[in-house]
Amino acid sequence: MYAFVCLQTSVGKLEDLLEIHTSSRQIHKVAILSKTNPVPNDQHGNQRFCLTDSTEVIKTQEIVHLLHVLHDCHSGECRVVEKDSHRRMEQETVSSVQRFLKHNNSCSIYLVNKFRLGKVSDKVHFQ
Ligand SMILES: [Zn+2]
Repeated sequence: MYAFVCLQTSVGKLEDLLEIHTSSRQIHKVAILSKTNPVPNDQHGNQRFCLTDSTEVIKTQEIVHLLHVLHDCHSGECRVVEKDSHRRMEQETVSSVQRFLKHNNSCSIYLVNKFRLGKVSDKVHFQ
């Protein structure tokens, strides 16, 4: 899962949340975001965007809501890879093959998981 947020007119990937304490005892809550660019919808009508290398700092009040996204594994041609696993069970070593999805990190396109938009359990917490 990736932490993305919606602003009024854009979407960004949440990299960090900071509290800046000034000498006049003011506290500014800011978020560091990686910017995104919209990408045309896929053949299923899924809304997509592409992560860029540029970042921005915003006030956390500018965050409209959190956005649940998924990697666009179809565009990235991500593969299921197999890995041999050996573990001891009682006196025997048990071998098995584990399968897991290996994302293609050179593909920075993400899909909006529109089925999660209404979840109120996704909240931003400061420590
Ligand atoms: Zn993927």
